[in-house]
Amino acid sequence: MEERIRIHGEQWKVSDIKDEVIWCRGENWTHTTFTPTKAILHKNVLSNVSQHSDREPNGKLVKDGWEHEHCQICWWKIYASENPEIGTGYSNGKIWVCTECYEQFIKGNAIGISS
Ligand SMILES: [Zn+2]
Repeated sequence: MEERIRIHGEQWKVSDIKDEVIWCRGENWTHTTFTPTKAILHKNVLSNVSQHSDREPNGKLVKDGWEHEHCQICWWKIYASENPEIGTGYSNGKIWVCTECYEQFIKGNAIGISS
């Protein structure tokens, strides 16, 4: 029987998240409140400015254009909100994990990864 784990009330197959969790456990995470940041719009694709140079020759700078992130593990949406489950998460400076995944898999070891 396939091992399953509950994230935000949904059942996930451990095998589907295991590789991501192992990778995430090797990163340094800081508890962070999400705030929108500027983004670059180019050919209808919005990019996070922190991943690019500030001066994209063909892009248009959009103030507060970057208004959400997704959890790297469960794809939970993180955006500006009074609800800390939504409005805060853990960031390594580039990518995010939600608080629940952090508590379960990175701080804790809910799926029993041997290190
Ligand atoms: Zn998550």
